[in-house]
Amino acid sequence: MSIPPGPTRRRFLTTAVTATLGASLGATVLTACQDSGAAPTLAGPSEAGPTSGTPATPPNAAPAVEPPITTGDQALRRLLEGNERFVANRTEPIDEGLNRRVAVSKSQQPFATVLGCVDSRVPVELVFDRGLGDLVVVRSAGQALDQSVTGSLEFGVAELHTPLLMVLGHQRCGALDATIKALDSHRTGAHAGEIDHLVDTLAPAVRQVSGKPGNRLDNAVHANIGLVIAQLRESPVLGPLEKAGKLTLVGAYYELDTGKVVLSG
Ligand SMILES: [Zn+2]
Repeated sequence: MSIPPGPTRRRFLTTAVTATLGASLGATVLTACQDSGAAPTLAGPSEAGPTSGTPATPPNAAPAVEPPITTGDQALRRLLEGNERFVANRTEPIDEGLNRRVAVSKSQQPFATVLGCVDSRVPVELVFDRGLGDLVVVRSAGQALDQSVTGSLEFGVAELHTPLLMVLGHQRCGALDATIKALDSHRTGAHAGEIDHLVDTLAPAVRQVSGKPGNRLDNAVHANIGLVIAQLRESPVLGPLEKAGKLTLVGAYYELDTGKVVLSG
């Protein structure tokens, strides 16, 4: 189920050419995407303006093209630079507009795979200031691994060829907090549905930090990041790629209070 790689340029040349196609059509805007491999799009006047939430590109603005990512270090730097913009409240126009959507519609070449939590306050693309086609994002409560989660991460790395895999935990994680409460009250098995599966999966991180000084929940979050990474290294897909130097596997921690992502473990 290989998906061929495609253009990855987040910022690409946007050329707006006003052409008159006849009095009956009026002004029509032809938008071309550099390196996109996609056919130029022909949009009528009503579609020619900037997409919602995306500032207009000045007509003669120089193109700002990001260099392609080939290593995990480069990918990590790009993520952290995006997070710095997010923290400083100076995010760039996210590539979610028409041009980018057309450019990635036929192929994709994301530069990083990220496993995050389902927490509504940690939307991965937003905290790294990235847009369409940039990231493979897998989210589960507390970054809990199961076959589907691990398989999805393997897909991002092996099939979509991202050189970086990040496990992103976060401050005040509710899933780990619930696990602490369940273990403390000896009420594991009390939840309906599959929530207890999450508790069972996250329990080793809570047990690992038992009796340690500091904030217990924070300690568990960091321990969990380390345990998830250790488990991912056991993957017959991910482990060999990391050993061969083709994959960088990192843990990171998102601070709700500041918006900052810091490396963990
Ligand atoms: Zn969480």
